[in-house]
Amino acid sequence: MPQPRADLSLRKGYHSPQVPVDVRLNTNESPFPPPEGWSDALAEEVRHTSFNRYPDRSAYALREALGELHGVRPEQVFAANGSNEVLQSLFLAYGGPGRKAALWEPTYALHSHIAHLTGTQVVAGRRGPGFSLGADDALELVEREQPSIVLLCSPNNPTGRAEDPSTVSAALSASGALVVVDEAYGQFSSWSALGLVGDGVPLVVVRTFSKTWSMAALRLGYLVGPSEVVRALERVALPYHLDSLKQAAGRLALKFTAEMERRVSAIVAERERLADELSHMAVELWPSQANFLLLRPLRRSGSEVWQGLVERSVLVRDTSSWPGLEGCLRVTVGLPKENDRFLAALSEVLA
Ligand code: PMP
Repeated sequence: MPQPRADLSLRKGYHSPQVPVDVRLNTNESPFPPPEGWSDALAEEVRHTSFNRYPDRSAYALREALGELHGVRPEQVFAANGSNEVLQSLFLAYGGPGRKAALWEPTYALHSHIAHLTGTQVVAGRRGPGFSLGADDALELVEREQPSIVLLCSPNNPTGRAEDPSTVSAALSASGALVVVDEAYGQFSSWSALGLVGDGVPLVVVRTFSKTWSMAALRLGYLVGPSEVVRALERVALPYHLDSLKQAAGRLALKFTAEMERRVSAIVAERERLADELSHMAVELWPSQANFLLLRPLRRSGSEVWQGLVERSVLVRDTSSWPGLEGCLRVTVGLPKENDRFLAALSEVLA
């Protein structure tokens, strides 16, 4: 058989094992199903969709609704099949052979994976104490390497820390690069880079329907940025890449913004409760602005604790072999009863 490209093996640690358990706290999804009103409206939409016709290629109504949500024009919004595809489109348009992307580890593993797939060279810095990234450190790498893309993640997966606004501003002040702030968990954070977006500013903010919006199965993400960037992304997107039903589903979801905001508050409150309980246990814990927490068991190895939790039917993410995260586990904030199951299982395993 013909051999695929030799460099296609997925970076170690990306896939989360799918283990059948009672409590799944490993992939940072929302624990809530989408609102019932949304499912009803979508069912109605199915009846009225002309499935024999191609969808609106520009997804205009969806982009108009997203633009209204963020106070920007539809021309400043690009949508795709999950924020991963938004990121891939950015790399196709702004990365590629002979170009570089700067990022700081530890961060979301798919950023460097997509860079490799698109032939973009990754220049990786390290985050400092508490996984912080100072403006000067960011600037130093960007000025030295002159990347085409600067990737920031706020709050950062898997550390939970929001990027410092001064770091984003510093990256923007370094000429030449497109600054990408991945805000997959942006709604859980007290700060967003969305306020900095504008035509002429080389900044895009990437968001998703997979977390806050409870719609991971829908595969819908988008970015807000300068209209010239959106036009460039339209050149690399496949024709009709967003199907009619998905466009409608996203548009209809935005009618439930108030309910989503209530869910975000409930998850943030649970996150703080979980953090408080964990602070009394034998783990090192980092403050989080996201819907997950990063922790390091003090007296047991991360993978031993992960296994002990699985035996108690609780699944978290084993990040203990990831660079810079030795011994760490990442746990998604779930429903109160799921979090209680996790806490009880963890205290048994640590005992
Ligand atoms: N960015 C970050 C930081 C993430 O953690 C995730 C989900 N793991 C994504 C993007 C991708 O989300 P999706 O493709 O589901 O929108």
